[in-house]
Amino acid sequence: MIDKSKKYWTGDSADDISEYLRLYSEDDNIDVKPVICHSCGNDSFELRVDQNEDVIQVKCTNCGTKKILLDCDEFWEDARPRLRKCPICKSCKSYNVSVGFTRRENGSVKWVYIGNRCTNCGTLGSYLDWKIDYEPTDEMEQNI
Ligand SMILES: [Zn+2]
Ligand SMILES: [Zn+2]
Repeated sequence: MIDKSKKYWTGDSADDISEYLRLYSEDDNIDVKPVICHSCGNDSFELRVDQNEDVIQVKCTNCGTKKILLDCDEFWEDARPRLRKCPICKSCKSYNVSVGFTRRENGSVKWVYIGNRCTNCGTLGSYLDWKIDYEPTDEMEQNI
């Protein structure tokens, strides 16, 4: 459940990111998928983000496996990603992460949203979103 009583919304579980992204994107049909570590199945990550280049890398807090999400590989070399500490509780660097896709009529992805939830204080947010201006997008969207 999302708690909207405070200035920053919080969620008590990773599943709340879906609802958060639906409201944030204002698209009821947004397709949300959780990011899960391919090596160990864990669902919390440290995030390295560059909001100018629109790139994000996740690092599993359990086993340390890193992954650059979606099409961010292409822009990674020019980016200056920084490790993100939760701006609300100011101590936690661990997040649950989901990706949300809004689609064109033909089904290809039009816009990508990153949804994140601090595992300490539960604050929900979106560090990044970006437009996709190419097709097809099948390969890109599976790279999570
Ligand atoms: Zn892992
Ligand atoms: Zn926090």
